[in-house]
Amino acid sequence: MPVARLQESSFKGVGWVPTNALITCFDGIGDSPYGSLGDLFIAPDTRTLVDVDFEDDTPAERFCIGDVQHLDGSAFACCTRSILTTAVHRLRSVASLQPVVSFEHEFQFDTDEKAIMQTPSFSMKGHREAADFGETLVAALRAAGLKPESFIKEYGADQFEMPIGVANGVLAADHAVILRELVRATAIRFDKVVSFNPIRSLDGVGNGVHVHFSLQDLAGEPVMYDAQQPYQLSQIGGSFVAGVLEYLPEYLSLTAPLATSYLRLTPHRWSAAYNNLGAQDREASLRICPVSGDDDEQRAGRFNIEFRAADAAASPYLVLAALLHAGTQGIEDNLPTPSVTTDDLSLLDESTLSKRGLSRLPQSLSEALQCFERSHMIHQWFGEEFKGVYLALKREELSHVEAWSPEEQCAAYGRVY
Ligand code: GLU
Ligand code: MG
Repeated sequence: MPVARLQESSFKGVGWVPTNALITCFDGIGDSPYGSLGDLFIAPDTRTLVDVDFEDDTPAERFCIGDVQHLDGSAFACCTRSILTTAVHRLRSVASLQPVVSFEHEFQFDTDEKAIMQTPSFSMKGHREAADFGETLVAALRAAGLKPESFIKEYGADQFEMPIGVANGVLAADHAVILRELVRATAIRFDKVVSFNPIRSLDGVGNGVHVHFSLQDLAGEPVMYDAQQPYQLSQIGGSFVAGVLEYLPEYLSLTAPLATSYLRLTPHRWSAAYNNLGAQDREASLRICPVSGDDDEQRAGRFNIEFRAADAAASPYLVLAALLHAGTQGIEDNLPTPSVTTDDLSLLDESTLSKRGLSRLPQSLSEALQCFERSHMIHQWFGEEFKGVYLALKREELSHVEAWSPEEQCAAYGRVY
């Protein structure tokens, strides 16, 4: 629509319908409780307006993120952004804390898997070959108000990584959406096909989304760092992290939402396979990140935990809402800090794992959806309406892909994401 409409006082948003929440990524429609009934609108949050001119004679990229609302302005139960807003408020009211978050994305250009032999990972050659793309993307992100930190030729075939600076609460998830769209917008201008596909082939590496988070009090002071505690994780940070791990199987289908997400969440893919808090371990679901700094104040400001069991097929709003609800629950229930793992858990048998309070994450989307369905907490945190809609949506998607081989599933999802 013409951008000028955003300024009109009578403009409240664009029309939407409840059943749209059940459209799968393959354009199927899950079993809808709404049918053809109901009217909603997407109310723009003009603070998120992106207006990036690539100065190459193509139209500027202009878009805006909004909240899906009923006609009276109340939130639609399946509005992912409103769900996150509720989770942010809960953390604030339970613990007087606010989340500080950054979503770190990996993506791949659509080239031959064997390209890895031509463009070695982490090499100057790899960066040089993608320099025009990288420079343009960094400029576009900056123009949209994000703070790109680096552009890395990752390990996978034509795989790159784009970490960005932290933002508070809902804005961090907005930034994840904006980043994905600007990566695509930049790729189009270079005639490249890019994908955030969680995994492209069984013998390739995955594309992860790693969520770096920390907590601040309402005055902006970091509360997760305590130099006196093991691994410098404060007590309140430990309770939060314990909640995130405790409920991980129940909300995993929100953070790893595709049938193929579970091919990525396997040992030795540097993603996440167990419900563990690891130190110096890039296969832990939660990783305590090493921080540098001259003194405790600097280190406290930089201290963060990384959640590795997410991919870019997931809504960043739902990912963060799940982490915040689970973490807040951990604080509410005063859970003790989990013990920290520093070994390769895939070498341990089940009884050793269970003695240490560890277990393998659900190994398929249907298993994860069963945990989601049975979860009392999901009901409490997300509400019955959202829960039913999400299950119907994902089960419709599963019925679409279940007859396909894993390779066919990877290829089909790759074209979507
Ligand atoms: N590609 C890995 C993943 O799927 C992450 C590699 C890394 O950056 O540690 O999560
Ligand atoms: Mg990486």
